[in-house]
Amino acid sequence: HRIPLPRIHRRHHSTNPYNAFISSTPSAAYTPPATPIPPPNTPLTHRPIAIKDNISTTTHPTTCASALLPSYTPPFDATCVSHLRRAGAVITGKTNMDEFGMGSDSLYSAFGPVSNPASPLLSAGGSSGGSAAAVASGAAWAALGTDTGGSVRLPAAYTGLVGFKPSYGVVSRWGVVAYANSLDTVGVLGSRVRDVRAVFDAISAHDPLDPTSLSPATRARLADLLAARAGGRFPRAPLRIGVPAEYNVAELTPGTRTAWRNTLQALHQRGHTFVPVSLPSTRAALAAYYVLAPAEASSNLAKYDGVRYGFRASPSKGSSKGEGSSEKEATEEDTLYAPIRAHFGPEVARRILLGTFSLSAGARENYFVQAQRVRRVVVREMDGVFRLPRVLVEGAAGADEGVDVLLTPTAPGPPPKRDEVPRGVGAYVRDVFTVPASLAGVPAGSVPVKVGEEGGIGLQVIGQFGDDGLVLDVAGYLE
Ligand code: GLN
Repeated sequence: HRIPLPRIHRRHHSTNPYNAFISSTPSAAYTPPATPIPPPNTPLTHRPIAIKDNISTTTHPTTCASALLPSYTPPFDATCVSHLRRAGAVITGKTNMDEFGMGSDSLYSAFGPVSNPASPLLSAGGSSGGSAAAVASGAAWAALGTDTGGSVRLPAAYTGLVGFKPSYGVVSRWGVVAYANSLDTVGVLGSRVRDVRAVFDAISAHDPLDPTSLSPATRARLADLLAARAGGRFPRAPLRIGVPAEYNVAELTPGTRTAWRNTLQALHQRGHTFVPVSLPSTRAALAAYYVLAPAEASSNLAKYDGVRYGFRASPSKGSSKGEGSSEKEATEEDTLYAPIRAHFGPEVARRILLGTFSLSAGARENYFVQAQRVRRVVVREMDGVFRLPRVLVEGAAGADEGVDVLLTPTAPGPPPKRDEVPRGVGAYVRDVFTVPASLAGVPAGSVPVKVGEEGGIGLQVIGQFGDDGLVLDVAGYLE
């Protein structure tokens, strides 16, 4: 038996055309305060910024697009949201997404699917599809999303925006509802690289409340490392751009391949060098990601049990007289845990099953442990191609003849039609180009490119850990 949940109120189409928002302040009601107190003067002053609905805000509910959290309003702002408010930004609303961040098309939402402002029959990408649709439709100037395996970059590519996933630990995750802690990052979507950079600059700071936040000491070491190579750095010096052979897969659509090739040619003509590189574990990275992320998720989602978090229904309902109740004593499991958890959407349920299986005694060694090994190989391969050493490894030297950035497509092709999106594993393959940077914790940005009239294609710039500034510089150079 399922405990009935409170009704989900979907917002009316006329005020929320792409179903981008779960809750919002209608933009008409937004009037900048006459005298801001204190008068902030930052690039974000009075800028309307939308926030993905898995990031805590005191002014709007935080639902994670889940039927289990229809009206939860946190008593605090996430650190990244506090930074934005302090910089004078106006939080316009909370954006629709795949439930708990699990998905690539923003179709798995208890509040209904998001559509792509460029063409409503198309997928807006996911899981930060509402954030993308909010910016692409002009309802927000920029938006925060979260990117665990590509959830900022993919929707950016599909909706023609710039999307940036910072290095892991650079932006605080405090107040961000966890999907897979070791991979989760807060990312930014905007129309232009300079807007994305302004938001990133405002939210990128050490936070003692997040134990995985990069420490001030490491940030200082990173600054020294970057200063030391300043002379040999873009834009003064030509870039060395890595082109990984493993990203040139048969599944690339012709338009994507053309966009990639044209951009590389244009960079070459401007004096930059491209360097073929090999990242042999690219495909294995996808499999490893889909073991590790669900494993962490299954653990994180255990708290939605109707007691600690999640809608709580009276245990008497449905268990005392219902047909299925028989004479059996209602155990705590029957009355609370299972009925509430039956309301997870199908994709979340699939992830919980995958995760609990790969962590179970019989499977752990073959799946979870193996995936952790693959993850270490992915990191090693990335470190092997970049000129900049990984700051987290003390005394590490960068690769001789290494590259400054990698340039790849963001996804194998443009957005699929919403009603043709495959379910389950079929949908996971589109993350093949975004998950390696997530496993390695390195910064990656997606920049929109047009091939003729064809939109919805993004190119991805990947940098070494901590080289977020260079990734944004190169992204700006490409737009
Ligand atoms: N599509 C990937 C997943 O479903 C990535 C999601 C994300 O980055 N939050 O896990």
